[in-house]
Amino acid sequence: MNIEISRRKFLQGSITLSVIGGMTATNLFSKEEKSGKIKLTTKTGTSNVKEVATLCEMCVNKCALIARVEDNVVTKLDPNPHFPKSRNMLCARGNAGIQALYDPDRLKYPMIRVGEKGEGKFKRVTWDEAFEYIKEKTVKILDEEKDNRSSFMFCAGEGMAEHTFKTFFQGFGSSNWLNHSSICLQTVASGYGVTIGKYPQSDLENAKYIIMAGANRAEAIVTPDTMDGMKNVKSKKNSGKLICVDPRFTNTAAKSDKWLAIKPGTDLAFVLALTYVTLKEELYNKEYVNKNFNGFEEYKKMILTNDYTPKWAQEITGIDSEDIYEIAREFMENAPEAIYYPGRRSTFAKNDFQLRRATAIFQALGGGIDCKGGLIFGDTLKIKGHEEVLPMYENAASRAVVKNKNKKPNEAGYDDCAVVSGGGSWISWRNHFLEDKHPYNVRGMFCYKHNPMMNMPNSTKTAQMLKKMELVVCIDTMPSDTVMYADVILPECTYLERTDPVKTFGGAEPSIAQRNKVIKPMYESKPVIEIMRGLTKKISKPLFEITKKYDEEVIDAIEDSSIEEVYKEFDLTIPFIHSQEKLNEHAVSNYPDAAEKLKKVGVYYPNMEKYYKQLSVNEFEYYPKNKKNYSINSGKPLTPSEKIECNLKTLAKKGIDPMPIWREEYNYKIPKGKFRLMTGRHAQFTQSGSANNSMLRDLMHQNYIWINKRVAISKNINFGDMIEVSSKIGKTRLRAYPTEKIAPDNLFFIHGFGQESSALTWAYKNGGNDNAVIEDVMEPVYGAAAMHETNVEIRKV
Ligand code: SF4
Repeated sequence: MNIEISRRKFLQGSITLSVIGGMTATNLFSKEEKSGKIKLTTKTGTSNVKEVATLCEMCVNKCALIARVEDNVVTKLDPNPHFPKSRNMLCARGNAGIQALYDPDRLKYPMIRVGEKGEGKFKRVTWDEAFEYIKEKTVKILDEEKDNRSSFMFCAGEGMAEHTFKTFFQGFGSSNWLNHSSICLQTVASGYGVTIGKYPQSDLENAKYIIMAGANRAEAIVTPDTMDGMKNVKSKKNSGKLICVDPRFTNTAAKSDKWLAIKPGTDLAFVLALTYVTLKEELYNKEYVNKNFNGFEEYKKMILTNDYTPKWAQEITGIDSEDIYEIAREFMENAPEAIYYPGRRSTFAKNDFQLRRATAIFQALGGGIDCKGGLIFGDTLKIKGHEEVLPMYENAASRAVVKNKNKKPNEAGYDDCAVVSGGGSWISWRNHFLEDKHPYNVRGMFCYKHNPMMNMPNSTKTAQMLKKMELVVCIDTMPSDTVMYADVILPECTYLERTDPVKTFGGAEPSIAQRNKVIKPMYESKPVIEIMRGLTKKISKPLFEITKKYDEEVIDAIEDSSIEEVYKEFDLTIPFIHSQEKLNEHAVSNYPDAAEKLKKVGVYYPNMEKYYKQLSVNEFEYYPKNKKNYSINSGKPLTPSEKIECNLKTLAKKGIDPMPIWREEYNYKIPKGKFRLMTGRHAQFTQSGSANNSMLRDLMHQNYIWINKRVAISKNINFGDMIEVSSKIGKTRLRAYPTEKIAPDNLFFIHGFGQESSALTWAYKNGGNDNAVIEDVMEPVYGAAAMHETNVEIRKV
């Protein structure tokens, strides 16, 4: 099947979308809501047509959409107005989801490698042949490793079916799980988690004053809350401001009231100085602090005695001290309806965990926690879990980590980071594997919807890791750079071809949403639950035979009962017996009509027929004002102590600063002739995942390297010239964009381009690959990748 959606048709679709979006919304809900029946309707002349409510997967946001299917072809994606999270918005990437479905380069059949790893030579096989190959290799390795289940590593990217794959990992019995967190939100989630109890949401809609630092919302992800942030602080009802703190003059900076060009990696000094002004001038909310802070006096003393003055911060950050005074005062004047935006970005600097702690404390000094216009925790609609198998394997080793031999008594800590989180540290794990430092052999890996070749700093090392693994199984939709190193490829269908596990979305307006299958999977691709069903059917019993051979407890148990009885605990097929649709019905069975609504409308929340209102063409109300969950804990943090934790002694035991302080090693230093490289993302481009999408490539052909204009002139570099960027670990090439919007010693380009997989028609060698040059620098707490710690050189080629 070869279906092409032309750019013209795509753009026509987008225009139609904006004009009739509101009309579609009216048709969808207004009449049926009173009778309790929700029916999707469509405006089309084609007779064989249906509309399916589902969720986007072009990025992590999961906006709700309605897919139009004509003669079994998905012809249009419209925003679904019923989802409080996406409020009738579908961005350019979301619209281009059709091309992800009909991308001719998609993985279509199971395949087994026939060439060298990375060469991209595979032969087509049947699903059974692919499973048989995996079984033989897995049995061999586990037999040789005496049933140490941790001799396999499992990794996964973010997604609604990630848990399905994780269920397989848990049943398999390995301890080695790596997900995207250490190359994504680990430090922000944990920094806020230990300080205020949870990584919060931001009520940008009602905030009067927003500091957006290092987050480029106007350009990186365009969603309803982005629009809130951009427009509401400027609306008549609010008198406040949007302050942008960023080394680059971004689109967010262009829309802000003030842009502060900070030096990369020095945000912590900026926040400490804001805190200094707040404490010195006693601008903070004393009542809130008295009631809700632990360790406030110690923190205050530390900030004041360390003299974290605006003058001090000016030297480090490059931000004028007068601006720091002004912003601290304005923020506290507007608090609690003021937000220092926590961001959704990855770790940039080594001090990122402490930056998040300092920011959370600064936010709390104004009292803007668990309240309207501030940071909110929101409510969540509970859904039921599904059946899992959690066998105990006697010989399964604990996670492969390298302990710190020099640690003091009672001090935790590992060789290169203090804490190992559930998602692990990707860089640490990979590097120790390459250096043969793991305490036991890890010989195989299962990789689901994850592309560490493109997404992890130092892609040369990642390639070495993949080459060294004896068995690499990749489950994916596209022939990514990582898939090129697979021994076995299992093609997953795209998000428009599958029903995923239902998900609950917390917030001020909590809801449940479901990704529904729009059309049948194309080619021989399958949803991951079916892949797991087939794989576990093939390998479950043979793997149990290995356990029977080496596991003393199992041997004893069989003597006491029977093989069949004992096997029940090790039967890996159990979690995948039921269809996803059945599992979802069970998950929401606490809510009488939820399963039906989720199938038809894609969204459910209690009283939705009563509450949901269309206010104007593109404005909706989901919950009445007095029913919104801005506050769920009377403004108190969600830490175990229900206090804002300023001075965490438990961190000190792990060798981590218990209070956020500035250290000399955090200073911004660039050797002469070098530049600090920064990376980021774009709203029309979802990191590496959409690099081959020809619709999006029409909107953004390639990435360009931002170079300060005066530097460019001094090096005779003009717009479009090819530039080679090199660091200690590698090189990449891309075209130049000389601009005044970046400082002379900084460079920037968008992540996700420059892919090496020749099976990707559009993405292959298109633009520059940041992770070919970003060094594998880790922040010291969780071992998260610090993406902006690399200095590079450039030359015109
Ligand atoms: S922000 Fe865009 S790409 Fe992301 S889920 Fe929403 S519509 Fe899809």
